[in-house]
Amino acid sequence: MISSGIQTAAYLFASILFILSLGGLSSQESAKRGVIYGIVGMAIAILSTVLGSGVNGHIYIIIALAIASVIGLIVARKVEMTSMPQLVAILHSFVGLAAVLVGFGSYLDPHTQELHGSEHTIHLVEVFIGVFIGAITFTGSIIAWGKLDGKIMSKALAYKGRHVVNIILMIIISVLGVMFVKAPETTGLMQLIIMTGIASFIGVMLVMAIGGADMPVVVSMLNSYSGWAAAAAGFMLGNDLLIVTGALVGSSGAILSIIMCEAMNRSFISVIFGGFGNTSNSTSKAMEGEVTSANHVEVSQMLKEAKSVVIVPGYGMAVAKAQYPIYDLVKRLQADGKEVRFGIHPVAGRLPGHMNVLLAEASVPYDIVLEMDEVNPDLPSTDLVMVIGANDIVNPAALEDEGSPIYGMPVIEVWNAKKVIVMKRSMAAGYAGIENPLFYKENTDMLYGDAKQSVDELIKNY
Ligand code: NDP
Repeated sequence: MISSGIQTAAYLFASILFILSLGGLSSQESAKRGVIYGIVGMAIAILSTVLGSGVNGHIYIIIALAIASVIGLIVARKVEMTSMPQLVAILHSFVGLAAVLVGFGSYLDPHTQELHGSEHTIHLVEVFIGVFIGAITFTGSIIAWGKLDGKIMSKALAYKGRHVVNIILMIIISVLGVMFVKAPETTGLMQLIIMTGIASFIGVMLVMAIGGADMPVVVSMLNSYSGWAAAAAGFMLGNDLLIVTGALVGSSGAILSIIMCEAMNRSFISVIFGGFGNTSNSTSKAMEGEVTSANHVEVSQMLKEAKSVVIVPGYGMAVAKAQYPIYDLVKRLQADGKEVRFGIHPVAGRLPGHMNVLLAEASVPYDIVLEMDEVNPDLPSTDLVMVIGANDIVNPAALEDEGSPIYGMPVIEVWNAKKVIVMKRSMAAGYAGIENPLFYKENTDMLYGDAKQSVDELIKNY
């Protein structure tokens, strides 16, 4: 058992470590340090909470921790890099579920009944809001998991009048909230259960209403919601550290959502209320031009002739695990005096920062990895662009076709380069499920095949 003074000091120390962790994660060079700060902070947080006064049944806690740790280890070892977004989504759902359970537990806890006056009212409001945010996060994250895993169609499911339905539901929830706070003892349980059901429904509809190409914002938004759910749980439990940690996750998730919205030219407000990315009224332009392809020998020759090369990776690079041979190829090109850089779109892949993680894994130096805004102005003077397993993030329809569901989203304007090679297995669409006019452009050739095998072939022929 530790005294409450030591516990407060430990909480403060853990909070500082979490802030340092977030700071570390903001750049690739310091990301590892950031993760270590996070791990140490979490270990201190768990220990000081479990050893704090008022915590009983340590044996159960140890058993639960051991089982959860083993499950966590197995899942983390087994998960493929391509399945990371689904894992993140399902982990967010756990935070939401935890907030719901804490809310119900806290409401039924006899100590709650000992509170009086405004203290009791405030606690009931905390419970109600906490369960509300938790339930939305829980079901919303499950739907996001299904969409990212391909188990649920990625197309936006939007029905007429849904905003009216949402407003009515919010009014019902507000009425239930007043009844809940006024109910004596634990007689407000029914209101709490009904509200949980309605909030769960809102969570489902919120994410179902969001179209495929807009999922990146949903992932970061649910990340933010999960933080607020944790903060709400902190209020219910009177745990300062949980409040601080939840607020850190909630606000950093919100900032990330704003960054993702800017990257996709979407309004933040419409994201929060769901139901954007609806493509039902859109009519995309018909494709013009002819698709041409090149073989590995021809592309190797183009690489030999090019002085400047930009590589634009996408989700297909993650699927093929092509980052390792790509870096081998880059080293060869650099040895021949060519300027080689990577151009990274903020929503490439299936997770914010997905491509940066993969390239860092393959030890690609950070100084040749450029962001979209940095690389776009250089493309007109670039000899060759290699698009590796990317599709939506290089789609000119985002700029040219007002009827396209991704219209308005900034993209990497690869077609401005002298020559473009698109490496993918077929003419299949990307995550947004739309055709790509880039493939029909005169200066574009397709190089069909699995990205890793293709890069291996290119190295052989170079
Ligand atoms: P896309 O999903 O648009 O395209 C990926 C392409 O890779 C496919 O067209 C596929 O074509 C190809 N591919 C798949 N496997 C392989 C392989 N083994 N070898 C070669 N090519 C392969 O990916 P982008 O990165 O361009 O765009 C990301 C999309 O995902 C955007 O729509 C974004 O909004 C969305 N998204 C992003 C999230 C994020 O946070 N980053 C989160 C959720 C969604 P083929 O089958 O012909 O090989």
